[in-house]
Amino acid sequence: MKEVYLDTYGCQMNVADSERMELLLFHSGYTRTHEKENADLILINTCSIREKAEQKIFSLFGHLKPLKEKNPDLILGLTGCLAQQEGERLLGKVPHLDLILGPDHVENIAHAVDCIRETGKPMVWNMWDERKNYSIPKLENSSLRHPGASAFVNIIKGCDKFCSFCVVPFTRGREKSREAEEIYNEIRQLVDQGAKEIILLGQNVNAYGKRGMDRPVAFHELLYDIAEIPGVERLRFTTSYPRDFTRELVLAYRDIDILMNHLHLPVQSGNDRILSDMRRGHTAQEYLDLVAMLKSETPGISLSTDIIVGYPGETEEEFQDTLDLMQQVGFSSSFMFAYSPRPGTPAALLPDSVPEPAKHERLQKTIEHQARLTETQAQCFLGKDVEVLIEGRSSKNGYEWKGRNPEYWRMLCSGPSIKVGDRVKIRVEAFSGHTLMGKVSKEEFAGAL
Ligand code: SF4
Repeated sequence: MKEVYLDTYGCQMNVADSERMELLLFHSGYTRTHEKENADLILINTCSIREKAEQKIFSLFGHLKPLKEKNPDLILGLTGCLAQQEGERLLGKVPHLDLILGPDHVENIAHAVDCIRETGKPMVWNMWDERKNYSIPKLENSSLRHPGASAFVNIIKGCDKFCSFCVVPFTRGREKSREAEEIYNEIRQLVDQGAKEIILLGQNVNAYGKRGMDRPVAFHELLYDIAEIPGVERLRFTTSYPRDFTRELVLAYRDIDILMNHLHLPVQSGNDRILSDMRRGHTAQEYLDLVAMLKSETPGISLSTDIIVGYPGETEEEFQDTLDLMQQVGFSSSFMFAYSPRPGTPAALLPDSVPEPAKHERLQKTIEHQARLTETQAQCFLGKDVEVLIEGRSSKNGYEWKGRNPEYWRMLCSGPSIKVGDRVKIRVEAFSGHTLMGKVSKEEFAGAL
């Protein structure tokens, strides 16, 4: 068999796309290698949401050039959002590239590689898939897939929101949902193969069911249906857009036992003027009202978010509103970034007016503020018994296993007779950042408690 080296940058959608490409290539005669030097095919699945990620990718391809010179049969491919956005222009920047393939063409990966082998010519495949429906076909012999205890399932792709700073609508296209029956079948198959937790994926999962389906189903209805599938022990979804978050969805958190007690709900800023400039479509108070409703229906729900500091025109006072909102919500964790303009977005036309040192300082303050919030919450877990789904071996000294608790904290633990896929109760004895550590508190598994 030939060997493919596959590296992934960016969000969980990219992780899921990489898993799919690996599977498709396996059916086409490729096994995965972790050594670039051995590979017949190198694929870098890219992200273009931040300038830094993009720079890293160009530098990586510079390092791959000697491998290509040594082995002209090696195929070098760049997939993902950068491929979609830049297309043919990438051949000017990285002339030793063989393949440029956008996210709409993940299903064509094996065919594209075959074409390049046959013709010896580079290929650019980044036109939009204009079909109305979004489908991920089932593969023959799909038992070759080993999903692990926690598995991603794509339910919607694209985004229609056009937030002023974001490239996603330009790299992933408009929202299109997968037929519910196709999703249920994939989940049944994943459960048969050992998955216990299902994480539904999309840039904006709350918009599920609005476009691209012959038999539309609302997102909350999809959740209730999935909860009925035998063998699904935990259910999560990401990412959510506050304005599309319905009352029915809040009630789903209250009513569906296996819907885990965590929600990632990006807010980006705590200031109304900045939120309006970002075209987020809601105010800080509307976000806080939604959080209050969630907390009242689902006490103990854990919330995480995305934050951008230093957006064009942001003053110190406006930045302070973001810290205040973080405090009011009490996020358990945040993805925090200093603003960087992305080509093609409306915000990129504005003067990038906050000086870099000020952006850096605000980012530092935000990180420190989040660390305090995380620590306060971590203290509450100390000495308590927490359920963990075991996902794999830990490389951390003193702890053999790793997993997540319902609130999506990373967990490190040790104890007798544990294996991947078990749900065990851990007594928390220490923490570090957003990771809790402990030992099995009872020998019975949580499922039997
Ligand atoms: S909702 Fe999210 S993915 Fe869509 S444009 Fe806004 S930030 Fe980007």
